[in-house]
Amino acid sequence: MAKAVGIDLGTTNSVIAVMEGGRPEVIVNAEGGRTTPSVVAYKGDETLVGQIARRQAALNPAATLFEVKRFIGRRWDEVKEEAARSPFAVKEGPGGSVRISVNGKDLAPEQVSAEVLRKLVADASAKLGQKITDAVITVPAYFDNSQREATKQAGEIAGLNVLRVINEPTAAALAYGLERKGNETVLVFDLGGGTFDVTILELGDGVFEVKSTAGDTHLGGADFDHRIVDWLAEDFNKEHNFDLRKDKQALQRLIEAAEKAKIDLSNASETTVSLPFITFDPETRTPMHVEKVLTRAKFEELTADLLRRVRKPVEQALSDAKLSASDINEVILVGGSTRIPAVKRIVQDITGKTPNESVNPDEAVALGAAVQAGIIQGDSSLGDIVLVDVTPLTLGVEVKGGMIAPMITRNTTVPAKKTEIYTTAENNQPGVEINVLQGERPMAADNKSLGRFKLEGIPPMPAGRAQIEVTFDIDANGILHVTAKEKTSGKESSIRIENTTTLDKSDVERMVQEAEQNAAADKARKEKVEKRNALDSLRVQATQQIEENTSASQDAKDKLKAAADEAEEAIRSEDDAKIADAQKKLEEELRTFMTTNANQSAGGAQADAAGAGAQAKQDDDVIDADFKPAE
Ligand code: AMP
Repeated sequence: MAKAVGIDLGTTNSVIAVMEGGRPEVIVNAEGGRTTPSVVAYKGDETLVGQIARRQAALNPAATLFEVKRFIGRRWDEVKEEAARSPFAVKEGPGGSVRISVNGKDLAPEQVSAEVLRKLVADASAKLGQKITDAVITVPAYFDNSQREATKQAGEIAGLNVLRVINEPTAAALAYGLERKGNETVLVFDLGGGTFDVTILELGDGVFEVKSTAGDTHLGGADFDHRIVDWLAEDFNKEHNFDLRKDKQALQRLIEAAEKAKIDLSNASETTVSLPFITFDPETRTPMHVEKVLTRAKFEELTADLLRRVRKPVEQALSDAKLSASDINEVILVGGSTRIPAVKRIVQDITGKTPNESVNPDEAVALGAAVQAGIIQGDSSLGDIVLVDVTPLTLGVEVKGGMIAPMITRNTTVPAKKTEIYTTAENNQPGVEINVLQGERPMAADNKSLGRFKLEGIPPMPAGRAQIEVTFDIDANGILHVTAKEKTSGKESSIRIENTTTLDKSDVERMVQEAEQNAAADKARKEKVEKRNALDSLRVQATQQIEENTSASQDAKDKLKAAADEAEEAIRSEDDAKIADAQKKLEEELRTFMTTNANQSAGGAQADAAGAGAQAKQDDDVIDADFKPAE
């Protein structure tokens, strides 16, 4: 059985890990990185993912997609504000969902995230030497039902069998607690690129029990970056009467420079933001530059309200767990943004504890996900580990008067199942519409509607007589399934889902096919380049042989030169058939030339030929690995 992996699908960066010899290990990507930027770019008909996509962002701002996790499983009206400050086009999609427009195509955030997953898994499959099909994917603990479901669908679009969706802080606690023996109450403070979670767990004897979780899915490192962007842009606007944020390319450069400045300030007390030639004066066409010193004190002033926002979820998690700060034994920091000194300070201030920095904040989540994958696959090296998690938000239905009737309250252990009986409000009511809600507010309209379910075919009867049994069932992924049936008639009615933002089955299937086609096209493109490069390196080798073998006959040299010229012509034509012909011909000519001149060529031409192939492969790893001219 192929190993299952654990994937931290992060807002900014993603990480993939696997169990190796009883321990979780990060798998490096094809570029040798332990983390992969969650960035996808569309360039011509090519899809770039990771570092390569990130590197060309400033030149291709409208088609370089980043922080897409902020949009996954969201409704348009929840993300309008974030969409407005994005350098790429984000708009309202079907049923109030979110779509990203790139090169005239509308993409669901799930599709874009699937590209990141696909790259992580392809690189990991190559590294492990086995095709990976099964994965555990993490989500912020405070992700609601649609965000979880959409993340799972992203995995499916990437061709994965998603074994489980688990909460990021819980995963981090798994990685932390794997080697701890005693009983501990742990608070995981997870501030990443786009989301904030706080989770309180009790650990002991292999049991990881989540007591409570709270958070803010609209708070992360990117918000800190945007404060710097606004500060720079407003200052520039005052001086030059020009808003850099309206210029997509300038905005992308500002965002990158702001993140860099923020990271610098985690170690230095001041930094200089320097962006030469950020734009041109519209009238005089003279270049304009940004050059500004940002101190840590100013950065903390710009982000003071963001820092204050972390306090409430920590207090709520403590109160939901019925604990006070002094009951916490360890505070674990997860997520890149916990490297900000002011964040560490505020955590210490709220909890009264010096945070434990023994886990790597970038890798702990993926490592924990790999442990969970190991548990599901029955990895015997892990012993008996039990993971008890909770649902982050209250789930309920809308009842008369526009109120929410809670079915499953927040911080209930999952999986969980609850059934309640409802009835009709009118005489001879033929059906009911059940609005499934998630959130903590008393009025239905203030919570998130996960979907409206219609139960139809209720036989005529007076108001209040019908017995409508509604069952909420949350699985171990934290994903909700709802069923309803009318009992007095003995007849079960089917449920129709309307207005959900998540993709329906046929959409997912279509996107799986599209993604596979894209992957096949990318593979074909790569193979074409490989063939071209292989022929080119053979041509270089032939030319070298002609130059080095001074004693070879002119006729032999001419023949080889003709084949090399033909190869050059074929490469230029980009015609597959011509390339294949020229490859065959040049291989033959080179072999003949080398055999005939074997005694003249010092050191043996066969060794040289193999050496040239190996050298070329090092220089450019798209050379065809089957290239064996010396045989
Ligand atoms: P994550 O989602 O955990 O990968 O966190 C990514 C976020 O952490 C991004 O917003 C990064 O800019 C931020 N980050 C990474 N390293 C640092 C650092 N040294 N100081 C401040 N923020 C950082």
